[in-house]
Amino acid sequence: MKILVDFAKCTGLGLCEAAAPELFEIDDDGGLVVLVDDVPPGEVDAARAAVVGCPTAALQLTDE
Ligand code: SF4
Repeated sequence: MKILVDFAKCTGLGLCEAAAPELFEIDDDGGLVVLVDDVPPGEVDAARAAVVGCPTAALQLTDE
């Protein structure tokens, strides 16, 4: 499972980082960084919570 980010929608407020700190980080410039290429099995629930919690619908999960 991979995380797709629509950076045109992302506002960098970091709710995803709060929901899934192992998967997301806001860097010093306020930009979102995805920390993993593939979501580890133990982080799938956190990834889904981040997707649901993103206020701008900038995140998607894909199995491709
Ligand atoms: S919660 Fe959504 S808008 Fe906010 S930083 Fe994460 S991806 Fe961007």
